[in-house]
Amino acid sequence: MSKVKHVLGISGGKDSAALAIYLHEKYPQIDFTYYYTDTGKELDETYQLLENIEIYLGKKILHLVANDAAESSENPFDFFYKSFKGYIPSATARWCTNMMKLQPFEKFVGETIPTLSYVGIRGDENREGYISKKNNIQSIFPFRKNMWSEDVLHKLFNPENQEVVLDYYNSVFKGEKLDKVAELLHSEITFKRHQRLATDRQIKYKLNGLMDLGVVDFNHATFQFLKGTEYPLSFEEDYALLDNEDVLVRDDVFRILRESGVGVPAYYNKIEYEVDGQKGEYARSRSGCFFCFFQQKIEWVWLYEQHPEKFKEAMAYENLKESFTWNQHESLEELIHPDRIRQIKLDHLKRTNKQKSDDSPYLLDILDDTEGDGCTACFV
Ligand code: SF4
Repeated sequence: MSKVKHVLGISGGKDSAALAIYLHEKYPQIDFTYYYTDTGKELDETYQLLENIEIYLGKKILHLVANDAAESSENPFDFFYKSFKGYIPSATARWCTNMMKLQPFEKFVGETIPTLSYVGIRGDENREGYISKKNNIQSIFPFRKNMWSEDVLHKLFNPENQEVVLDYYNSVFKGEKLDKVAELLHSEITFKRHQRLATDRQIKYKLNGLMDLGVVDFNHATFQFLKGTEYPLSFEEDYALLDNEDVLVRDDVFRILRESGVGVPAYYNKIEYEVDGQKGEYARSRSGCFFCFFQQKIEWVWLYEQHPEKFKEAMAYENLKESFTWNQHESLEELIHPDRIRQIKLDHLKRTNKQKSDDSPYLLDILDDTEGDGCTACFV
């Protein structure tokens, strides 16, 4: 029996939902615990998605709420908003993620049980997921070609560990392939703080080179290396995902959601708007609080026009005297001035006309450049 706990955070977004479905189908032998960290400020579609996933999985998704807020009669966001004296969170002061997502998660996992945390970052994304500083939590990225987290790679490619890695390859490769592994492992690497970019580049070189020689072998070599560490996987005799070579991208995610019957959250669907006689389409690009400061201006306009009551609720949090606003240099009151809405739509149209692809039923291409903004605790 596994000594490791397998947890999967469902953010309410498409990728983590698809990951839960994918892993449930492909690895029925793994006993996943699903959780959701609630801010109390999501759109109804998110809560509907959670319900649909529960029905599909036949299992409850645990709703985690920060301790202090759990004891209050208010919802989590309102509780913390008051305790921060009305200071609205922002990209640079993101107390919301910390208090309502990360802390409840780490508390739920605890200090001792070795835990694998599955994260739905896709194979077509270029971002890293949240990596806990706790030794008993290890992140796994099953949708990517490289399923290992950055911290594992840093240790794996540290020159002091290369012989352990080479040992594994010695047992499975020979000849030119083995020479190539040795060359990659012995290639230059620096871990000096001020040379972070060089380190990233060198790790990428080694990683891609080894994965080109075989993803499964690379996974087994990494697993072998982890056995000598205190990472949660060192407690496992074997690990089913080592043989997984799947790489899943955005289209796969939508396909999984549709084919499973769980469905795509309605806010991803395009809605038509008109401005100066021209037609455009808008939608929301991600899950998360409806007032999230990471959203684009066109998404605020979408919220105003499609969920006016939520927009009004978002406005009520702003304090213009203190300059506490969701967007820098612009209040929501200013944003919904008709001239401003017209300008935002025209800017959006200009941008989308450049990027639009006719066969996309969602705003996939348009939101490409912004989807990675924010944090993986909220938007995966
Ligand atoms: S969705 Fe946005 S506002 Fe909500 S917790 Fe995450 S970062 Fe904060």
